[in-house]
Amino acid sequence: MFMQIHCVRCGECETISHVLLGCSYARAVWFGSPLGSNYLLNANLDFSDWVSAWKSFSTLGKKESKSLITLCSFFYWHIWLSRNDLVFGRKTWQPNEVISAALRAFHEYSVVHMAGLSTPGTSVASPPQWVVLVVGTVKCNCDASFSASFNKASMGFVCRDHNSLPLKGFSCPSSFSDIMVGETLVVRLAMQEMVANGFERVVIESDSKSLITYIENGGGAAPFHVKTLVDDIIYLSLSFVSCSFVCISREINSVTDSLARRALSHD
Ligand SMILES: [Zn+2]
Repeated sequence: MFMQIHCVRCGECETISHVLLGCSYARAVWFGSPLGSNYLLNANLDFSDWVSAWKSFSTLGKKESKSLITLCSFFYWHIWLSRNDLVFGRKTWQPNEVISAALRAFHEYSVVHMAGLSTPGTSVASPPQWVVLVVGTVKCNCDASFSASFNKASMGFVCRDHNSLPLKGFSCPSSFSDIMVGETLVVRLAMQEMVANGFERVVIESDSKSLITYIENGGGAAPFHVKTLVDDIIYLSLSFVSCSFVCISREINSVTDSLARRALSHD
């Protein structure tokens, strides 16, 4: 007799894909992880497809790729442990506890086995990305694209809630001729949109390490041509109850990147 097992957290049919990726609990954990929410595009994500997609990490280089795969593995393992602890009545883990435990295990492992792997995507992140993500936090990925050969530019951003469900997406052709200006413009635009929508707690992700560094340094080191825009961003950040900026790798920002590129293809 076939017996369907239901997820102990949400009651949906319990499959490996559901427990590790699709369940709102797993999504909250991934959302708060250094990988961000971009790997979780839809709730029906299949676990084996997801693992196959890890091949794309190889474009980041051997060390970074190994680091990401190891990190993902520790996240899966800890999501699974937290499920078992709940099923057997041992402990109820909050998503942020799973995130902290997975990161701790990853760091311990990397010190011993991998000569101190870097945590992907957190090189200039301060505060760290895995700080508790309160319900109501909105995470926004921003990206700009510029093609000098076609003299075309575009920008895009995606806002997601703490369960990584999309709240807002935006992409449009633009007219900047310098990628730094584009990266700065799109962050400012996303922040204006988030203020207009009344979002109070926001995490803004960009793959422009320079931009995040300028913002974190109070705008002082920003080059002249983006200085005013960076100042605007710093000013806008005061409109939120909490606002943090995180640099993520281009690979991780790929969803937003493709959104921006899609806008590039428009006339
Ligand atoms: Zn569930």
